[in-house]
Amino acid sequence: MMKYDLAIVGGGAAGLAAAASFIKEVKNKADSEEVRICILEKNETAGRKINATGGGRCNLTNEACPGKEMTRGFFRSIGIETYCDDEGRYYPYTNKASDVTKALVDAIGSSADLKCGFTVKVISRVKSDDEYFMITGMQQSAMEMIFADKVLIAMGGKAGPQYGTTGDGYTLARTLGHTVTRVFPILTGITCSAEGVDFASLKGIRAKGTVILNKDGVPIVRDTGEIQFTEDGISGICVFNLTPHIKADKRENFGDALKRYSITVDLAPDFTEEQLAARAESFGSFGILTQKLAAVFDEHQGDTSAAKIKNWQLEITGIKGWRDAQATFGGVALDEIDMDTMESRIVPGLYFAGEIIDAQGPCGGFNLQNAWETGIKAARAIASDYSE
Ligand SMILES: Cc1cc2nc3c(=O)[nH]c(=O)nc-3n(C[C@H](O)[C@H](O)[C@H](O)COP(=O)(O)OP(=O)(O)OC[C@H]3O[C@@H](n4cnc5c(N)ncnc54)[C@H](O)[C@@H]3O)c2cc1C
Repeated sequence: MMKYDLAIVGGGAAGLAAAASFIKEVKNKADSEEVRICILEKNETAGRKINATGGGRCNLTNEACPGKEMTRGFFRSIGIETYCDDEGRYYPYTNKASDVTKALVDAIGSSADLKCGFTVKVISRVKSDDEYFMITGMQQSAMEMIFADKVLIAMGGKAGPQYGTTGDGYTLARTLGHTVTRVFPILTGITCSAEGVDFASLKGIRAKGTVILNKDGVPIVRDTGEIQFTEDGISGICVFNLTPHIKADKRENFGDALKRYSITVDLAPDFTEEQLAARAESFGSFGILTQKLAAVFDEHQGDTSAAKIKNWQLEITGIKGWRDAQATFGGVALDEIDMDTMESRIVPGLYFAGEIIDAQGPCGGFNLQNAWETGIKAARAIASDYSE
C-alpha cells in the first residue's frame, strides 16, 4: 500500500502555502528523498480563489498583521516581491493575483503530487499497527483512496462556493470529532431599506461615507470609505467590514437577529452639518455628493437637509449570501487546535489551516494572512519531525 507522509486537502491559499513551505523545510533534511506529499484539490486547477482576490490583485497581507513580515519573507523566497499601498495593504509587486498562484505552484513543482479534480468525501483514521488516515474521494467519477500518515485540512469555508468552497471541510471535521461553531457569510453587501428611497434607482452610485452599525439602537462599529450603492442596498469595503459584527445568538433565527441592527450613514464625513447647511441654498448637496446621488437624494429626502445627509437611517433587510461573501464567520473551534502547530487536540496527526478555522478578519489582507500563516505554521510543525 502506497502511503503519503502528508496529504493536504484543498489547494487554495493555505494548502499551497503549506505545501511550498513544507517542501522548503524538508529539502535539506537527510531523509527528504523519501518524503511524499500530495495535494487534493476539487477544482481543475489549484488556487482559483487566490486568482480572484483583491479584485485580481491579491491583497496578501496588511501592515497591521503581526505576521506580515513572515508572509513577505515567504513570498520573497518564492519570487514574489510585494509593495504596500497608502492604506497599509500589501500586494504583489506585479499587481497580479495569478502570479501569486503561479509562484506557489512553481515552488511546489514536482515535489508533491498535485491531484486536481479530486473531491474529498471522507477522511477516517485507521487504527492498525501504525495509525494513519484513509481519504476517500472522487476523481473523474471514479472513487479513489489515498493513505497518509498526516493530513492537513485546508478546505476553506463556505464563502465563494463558485471557487470550490462549499463547506465540505466542516462535515469532515465534525466526523473526526471536532466542534464547528455556527457559520455566517461575512465581508459582503447588505440589503437595506430607507424611507422614501428606491435603492434600484441608486444602483451604481459610489460615494465617500461613514457607515455606523447600530445594535438595539446603540452604535457598535463604524468604518469610512467608498460606499457602493446596489439595486437593493449598499456595498463596498467599509460596508463589508460591518458584517462580521452582525450576529445571531446561539439558537436565534438570523432573520430575527437582523431586526436588532440598523445602519446610520454619514454621506459627508468631512463636513459639519453647519457647513452643509451654509452651502445648501446655492448648491443643494451637489458638490459633496455626486450629481447623480445629489439629485436622487435631494428628490427623495425632500429638502436638502444637512442632518439627513449626515445621519441617514437605513433598516437592514438582509446580508448578501455565500456567493457574494469574501469570508466565513465561524468554523472549527480554536480551543480544539494547538495554534502553534495547527495540530488537532483531538486527533493526533490531523492539522487545520486557513478559513476553515474559527478565525476571521476584516477586508485588507487579514484573511489571506490567516491562510498563509496557519498553513506555514502547520508545515513547519510537520517538517520538524524529519531529522537534519
Ligand atoms: C472574491 C474574493 C476576494 C477576496 N479577496 C481577498 C483579499 O484581497 N485579501 C484577503 O486577505 N482575503 C481575500 N479574500 C478571502 C480569502 O481569499 C480567503 O480567506 C482565503 O483564500 C482562504 O484560504 P483557504 O486556503 O483557507 O481557502 P481557499 O483559498 O478557499 O482554498 C480552499 C480550497 O479547498 C478546495 N476544496 C474545498 N472542498 C474540497 C473537497 N471536498 N475536496 C478537495 N478540495 C476541496 C477548494 O476548491 C479550494 O481550492 C477574498 C475572497 C473572495 C471570495
